Amino acid sequence: MSKLILIPTPIGNLKDITLRAIDAIQSVDVLLAEDTRHTGKLLKHLKIEKKMLPYHAHNEHRLMESIVDKIKSKEIVGLVSDAGTPGISDPGFLLVRECVKAGVHIETLPGPTAFIPALVGSGLPCDKFYFEGFLPHKKGRQSRLKFLANLPCTIVLYESPHRLIKTLEQISDILGQDRKICIVRELTKIHESFHRGDVSTQLEYFKKVLPKGEIVIVIGGNGI
Ligand code: SAM
Repeated sequence: MSKLILIPTPIGNLKDITLRAIDAIQSVDVLLAEDTRHTGKLLKHLKIEKKMLPYHAHNEHRLMESIVDKIKSKEIVGLVSDAGTPGISDPGFLLVRECVKAGVHIETLPGPTAFIPALVGSGLPCDKFYFEGFLPHKKGRQSRLKFLANLPCTIVLYESPHRLIKTLEQISDILGQDRKICIVRELTKIHESFHRGDVSTQLEYFKKVLPKGEIVIVIGGNGI
C-alpha cells in the first residue's frame, strides 16, 4: 500500500535504530532526507542502497505537493531527519498535514528522540510536561520564557551549546535562580551526562566548564 512512513533515526548511538526502521527504509521507493550525505552514512552502515531526495526546511514548502502526488501514484515514501524523530524540531509536520488533507495513509514509527530520555532521566516529574523545543533566537524569546515561567509542569527545551549560558542567565532572571533544572548532554554518546541541580549551580558550573555537544534543558515546573 502506498503511504508516507515517518522513520526515526539514532540521535548518536547507531544501535538505537529499530528493526522496523530498517525494514521501512528497505521498503520505501524513495527516502526523503534532511541531509542526504548525513543519511547516506547511516544507509552505508546499514548496508542499504536507496534513492534519496533532499527534504529540509528550505525546500519543504516547494516539494510537499509533488511528494503527495508521488504517494498518490502508488509510491511508498519515507521521511527521515538528521537525527531523532522527523517533525520534532525538524521538518515533517507540513508534509504530514498535507498528506492528511489529501487522505494519504501515514505510518509513524516509534523510535529515537532526544527529549524523552532527557525528561525521564532528569529526576524531575515526567507525568506531565511541556515540550518547547528551541526558543526563538531573538524576537519573542523573553515572552516565551515568561509564558514557561508559569507552567505547573516540567518544561523541556532544546538548546545549542553556544547559547546555553545566555539561556541559563535568562532562565535565572525570569524563572528564578532556585528553579530545579537538569542539563542533559550528548545522549546515547560516549560523553553522555546529566547535570542536576538548581539554575544558579548549573550556571556557575557551565561558566567554568565550557558547554559542548548537543543539549536538552529540563526545568522543574512552577511550584514543583
Ligand atoms: N528530531 C530530533 C529529536 O527527535 O529529538 C531533534 C532535532 S533538533 C534539530 C536537534 C536538537 O535536539 C539538538 O540541538 C539538541 O537540543 C537535541 N538533541 C539531538 N540529539 C541529542 C543528543 N544526542 N543529546 C542531547 N540532545 C540532543
